[in-house]
Amino acid sequence: MAKHPVPKKKTNKSDTKRRYGSFKTKVLKKLTNLLNLASCPDCGSKIPAHRACPDCGKYKGRQVIDKQKKVDKITKIKA
Ligand SMILES: [Zn+2]
Repeated sequence: MAKHPVPKKKTNKSDTKRRYGSFKTKVLKKLTNLLNLASCPDCGSKIPAHRACPDCGKYKGRQVIDKQKKVDKITKIKA
């Protein structure tokens, strides 16, 4: 006989899924609390608090990241 604890029955798929499902929601909740997500006052997208918005490039109403300026790709290396 086994001296260590042995499960009497095989854990069915739904029980396993339910257990890991609750774990997933718990972790997600923890992560969202950690990030402290706020909504952007200009465009309304979810952004981390005290950070400039990556979508519209604004922070506290003023433009911080220039979104209109296009960054030219380096295609040739000048020697
Ligand atoms: Zn925004």
